[in-house]
Amino acid sequence: MFDVIVVGSGPTGLMLAGELRLHGVRVLVLEKETEPSGQSRALGLHVRSVEVMDQRGLLDQFLALGQQFTVGGFFAGIGERWPERLDTAHSYVLGIPQSTTERLLAERAAELGAEIRRGCELVGFRQDDEGVTVELADSTQVRARYLVGCDGGRSTVRKLLGVGFPGEPTRVETLLGEVEVTMPPEELAAAVAEVRKEHSRFGTMPLGDGVYRLIVPADGVAEDRSVPPTLEELKQQVRAFAGTDFGAHSPRWLSRFGDATRLVEHYRTGRVLLAGDAAHVHPPTGGMGLNLGIQDAFNLGWKLAADLNGWSPEGLLDTYHTERHPVAANVLDNTRVQTELLSSEPGPRAVRRLVSELMEFEEVNRYLIEKITAIAVRYDFGEGHELLGRRLRDVKLKRGRLYDLMHDGRGLLLDQTGRLSVTGWADRVDHVIDVSEELDVPAVLLRPDGHVAWVGEEQRDLLDHLPKWFGTATG
Ligand SMILES: Cc1cc2nc3c(=O)[nH]c(=O)nc-3n(C[C@H](O)[C@H](O)[C@H](O)COP(=O)(O)OP(=O)(O)OC[C@H]3O[C@@H](n4cnc5c(N)ncnc54)[C@H](O)[C@@H]3O)c2cc1C
Repeated sequence: MFDVIVVGSGPTGLMLAGELRLHGVRVLVLEKETEPSGQSRALGLHVRSVEVMDQRGLLDQFLALGQQFTVGGFFAGIGERWPERLDTAHSYVLGIPQSTTERLLAERAAELGAEIRRGCELVGFRQDDEGVTVELADSTQVRARYLVGCDGGRSTVRKLLGVGFPGEPTRVETLLGEVEVTMPPEELAAAVAEVRKEHSRFGTMPLGDGVYRLIVPADGVAEDRSVPPTLEELKQQVRAFAGTDFGAHSPRWLSRFGDATRLVEHYRTGRVLLAGDAAHVHPPTGGMGLNLGIQDAFNLGWKLAADLNGWSPEGLLDTYHTERHPVAANVLDNTRVQTELLSSEPGPRAVRRLVSELMEFEEVNRYLIEKITAIAVRYDFGEGHELLGRRLRDVKLKRGRLYDLMHDGRGLLLDQTGRLSVTGWADRVDHVIDVSEELDVPAVLLRPDGHVAWVGEEQRDLLDHLPKWFGTATG
């Protein structure tokens, strides 16, 4: 019997598998496809995900295969400026194809000992007090103590659970094609700029080697969106907007996506949990979906491990829902706003002009980018210090860097007083006595996901907070 079965080897499932293995949890990843698709829906990581990779010692690999950008335009394609003084050591977007992100996360999960079985489709499950029995398409069964559905927007796990998935259906559809073009780059850029004066949902992106990603509003909504458009359909729509199809040929990927926006009612139903697109769907504007899934996994991994390793305080696993559900609701609202701002109707276009003017103010620009990049996320840990519930940015210490101390996914007391102790929790929480000129607090207790659980200087106060996140003292 496994501890956890993760369904789906997308970025969410793979991140989760790695996080669980850090804590010795026996994890099986089931993936229905026999091979990775090689396609890349997402093309980048936002700041918080970059920080997450840094906190686990993975960032160098990502940086080696990605490209750092400091241009704006992530909020509905408005505003070209990247804000100054973003509260992070990683003030950039990391351009990296989703297929590369998945490969790196798969390698990490496998290196840490996760078993990844491809060609295995979950078709059913039943849960009882002790665990969950999963049924596969070939009629075999496999059992674990928990099941996590990371099986994407059309999640079978979510459907079988029957849990509510309220929101809006697709109202507008967009065609996507990755194609080669014959039109010279400058001519193409000029033609696109002309179309975008009226139609903000139209866009292109050079992907290198003469390949472009073309994004064009569809003519209506397809009955079955899992059927990709043909090259001719794509070219016809491009011509309808631009008067030319740029000489598009040799497609390497054709797809369509809608603006359905939905959020699952409960992230946890007994021993079954949902994460990533399985729990929330929204249009890709702003490039947040993959990031949100990775951050779901980062929140869930250590909590599930704490439960399985027997030291979880009461209710810890339920905080996965109470913390992540509002974050996703916020992202969904953000994409709803962006969808409105991308409309070609006169009213929304007037609002777009006003928002463009507002984004000239540095504070507004920064506020919106902090939301998109997820560094503004603050979990509700109650009243307290302004850092409480937020993730702490990386800071330089006298000896090294904060994030370098977090690779093992344990709690961390960063103690600038030298007077505190975590005796009784030392198997779960590291205690580092060091100082940072960048940190204006005597001591800070970080959860394994880097969020601030306590700020203070009194041992008695610390002892009140340790059990809330790390269970009862041992020894
Ligand atoms: C055009 C487009 C552009 C995008 N751009 C961005 C971007 O720039 N930035 C960003 O952050 N996000 C972006 N996204 C969103 C991003 O691609 C998704 O949010 C992300 O893939 C979600 O990851 P996931 O692991 O939750 O699900 P998925 O990536 O969908 O993975 C789910 C996995 O589960 C498997 N599976 C499904 N059912 C079963 C089953 N029954 N049994 C076993 N396996 C199963 C699937 O085969 C799949 O491998 C974009 C999306 C689109 C459509």
